[in-house]
Amino acid sequence: MDKEQFRQWSHRAADWGADYRENLRDRPVRAQTAPGEIAAAIASAPPEAAEPMEAIFADFEKTIVPGMTHWQHPRFFAYFPANAAPVSVVAEYLVTAMAAQCMLWQTSPAATELETKVLDWLRQALGLPAGFAGVIQDSASSATLAAMLVMRERALEWQGNAQGLAGQRPVRVYSSDQVHTSIDRAIWIAGIGQDNLVRIPTAGALRSMDAEALDQAIARDREAGFLPAGVVASVGGTSVGGSDDVAAVCAVARKYGLYVHVDAAWAGSAMICPEFRHLWAGVEEADSVVFNPHKWLGAQFDCSAHFIRDPESLVKTLAIQPEFLKTHGKEGLINYSEWSVPLGRRFRALKLWFLIRAHGLEGLRTMIRSHVAWAKKLASRIAAEPDFEIVTEPMLSLFSFRHRVTEGADEDAHNLALVSRINDEGRIYLTQTRVDGRVAIRFQAGQFEATEADVDAAFDAIVDAARAMT
Ligand SMILES: *Cc1c(COP(=O)(O)O)cnc(C)c1O
Repeated sequence: MDKEQFRQWSHRAADWGADYRENLRDRPVRAQTAPGEIAAAIASAPPEAAEPMEAIFADFEKTIVPGMTHWQHPRFFAYFPANAAPVSVVAEYLVTAMAAQCMLWQTSPAATELETKVLDWLRQALGLPAGFAGVIQDSASSATLAAMLVMRERALEWQGNAQGLAGQRPVRVYSSDQVHTSIDRAIWIAGIGQDNLVRIPTAGALRSMDAEALDQAIARDREAGFLPAGVVASVGGTSVGGSDDVAAVCAVARKYGLYVHVDAAWAGSAMICPEFRHLWAGVEEADSVVFNPHKWLGAQFDCSAHFIRDPESLVKTLAIQPEFLKTHGKEGLINYSEWSVPLGRRFRALKLWFLIRAHGLEGLRTMIRSHVAWAKKLASRIAAEPDFEIVTEPMLSLFSFRHRVTEGADEDAHNLALVSRINDEGRIYLTQTRVDGRVAIRFQAGQFEATEADVDAAFDAIVDAARAMT
């Protein structure tokens, strides 16, 4: 591709993107393809000769786009959102064009210094105290892994990296059963082992860890010769929003000198609104907090904000300095690759800077408040239908419900069939979960460009599909 073609195709791609966003409501939300259909339309061997861009682009439109699930669709109510606000997409075009590796200060000073500044903007926006320092990780999973490694190293007096875990007392980590599977995977990868992730029972509407039980589990483990290292608290769990009492968890952890990591990957965005901060009260006592601006806030994936009270512990765990990575003559600079597992890093701060400036915190707060209000309204409309029941009340903009079945019918199968029917029909997209072993249908409102009418449309799509089945 020569320079002139690069210009021409960049314009084409930008136009395509703008048209795509403009016409999203005309598309079914979830891809309507059968497994293998897309693969069958793609050549089985690579071309020997160069192909014209016209042909490549035409195939993209014909073969690829119909096989996409449209995460930016305003009626995407499944999983959690992966919002890419248009302004953050524009920032990503620029970042992609420059394609810098931002691992060290000197490999792109602007990337490092902007990251420090916008993460501090975010810290202020969330109401976290000034002692927290932030870094952008590629995902909450990576942030949690980094925090897990710090827990481990701290407990092992910084000997784990050098000596490995063989011959050490087994390291123990505590969480409820409402945490995301990224906690399990971090436990595996950190070499701690699933058997050493101790599940603490939960209670109450928010399915919070029982602090008394946590205290007893740690004491028992110490007695039995284990090495308690840390606790992972959940704020806004993936299934139904399960949230721990962070203050109570931190109080128990402090008593035993344990490290606390708070996973608020989804719900953290809502903390820019002071009225929701009670959901993570006590967070200022935590050691590590992660939330994903790439979920609800609108910074295109990937962009996970990781705040740490003592970044030295993170650097002590992850930094390694071969000669070729040394920054000679510039002491005291931040090299963010020392704060994360991968060395190479994209310039992710730019889209946050664009996003926060273009919408202002007040604009972002209005969006989040609207989603919460619309989800509440939908939940009460569904609750008023005699053939439906609310399974879990709204936690921010997430709730779950179920269609009732006649006595003796298979309730789980019926509700799974209902989800499939709704998604096949394509007006909206929902996913299911299990609550206390029984299938429930999840609903979350959070799409960046959703309107109240889109959420109202969900009511019709759900009720129409359910009534058509009975
Ligand atoms: C989405 C989510 C994660 C995983 O986030 P990634 O950035 O995809 O790794 C972890 N925890 C919670 C609570 C989540 O909602």
